Amino acid sequence: MPAPDRRKPRFLALANQKGGVGKTTTAINLATALAAKRKVLLIDLDPQGNASTGLGIPRSERGAGSYALLIGDRPLASLVRPTAVPDLGLVPADPELAGAEVELVTLPDRDRRLRQALEAATELLAHYDYVFFDCPPSLGLLTLNALVAADGVLVPLQCEFFALEGMSQITRTLDRVKRALNPALTLEGIVLTMYDRRNNLSELVAADVRGFFKERVFDTVIPRNVRVSEAPSHGLPVLLYDFRSIGAQAYVQLAAELLKREREREKTAAA
Ligand code: ADP
Ligand code: MG
Repeated sequence: MPAPDRRKPRFLALANQKGGVGKTTTAINLATALAAKRKVLLIDLDPQGNASTGLGIPRSERGAGSYALLIGDRPLASLVRPTAVPDLGLVPADPELAGAEVELVTLPDRDRRLRQALEAATELLAHYDYVFFDCPPSLGLLTLNALVAADGVLVPLQCEFFALEGMSQITRTLDRVKRALNPALTLEGIVLTMYDRRNNLSELVAADVRGFFKERVFDTVIPRNVRVSEAPSHGLPVLLYDFRSIGAQAYVQLAAELLKREREREKTAAA
């Protein structure tokens, strides 16, 4: 039994069954912005490994990572790699992760393996404040493992037509996971991404999403910004690639808002 006062990080999953909505970009850059003030770990759960590449670990150098954690019972401590960001560690997506969805089906505790692996690493995790899970663009077993291990879910949402329809699928999944597998799971928030001020649709969709999800939508909006899309090809978060870009600054602001929301939540809980 861990000591009751042992620090435990906050586990946050970046999830949305749609691809290309900014999950990985938000995982990398929110984690980087938070690492200026907190200790952060990012676990790449997408077989495509874009978070790993974007943090400077190319496919050929991945070695053991989240697959080994989920399937091979390798301890977390042996899988964490340093990144160019001082207080940001990474568990990369190893090449074998592509087969994990299929392999997990036949394994015991197939949807709790990540949670169990993290529970076995409380000592190491006490050094971290935040652990992010970058999920693949599906609601399969890898995402399910993240949702079962998470305290909260961050849903990046691209400001485009059908954005709300996409939200109903993910919220249904969250409700189901909450009911059956992880009652403590919360919707930490919705992050509007790739916002284009010149496009009326962006504005309309943002208003719609805010009208429906109210304060669960972060005030901070991530603008579409070419520096954000260039950074991964240099293996760098946009905060290191071009700190002054509007994209980098938006992620700095998002991190500050996340911390502020957390302080408010703690205040409410204590009251
Ligand atoms: P997901 O992980 O949800 O599939 P990504 O984060 O990989 O989505 O983003 C999809 C693509 O959009 C990537 O090429 C990424 O570089 C680009 N992108 C993401 N956010 C922005 C942004 N704010 N401005 C410009 N391009 C972006
Ligand atoms: Mg991704």
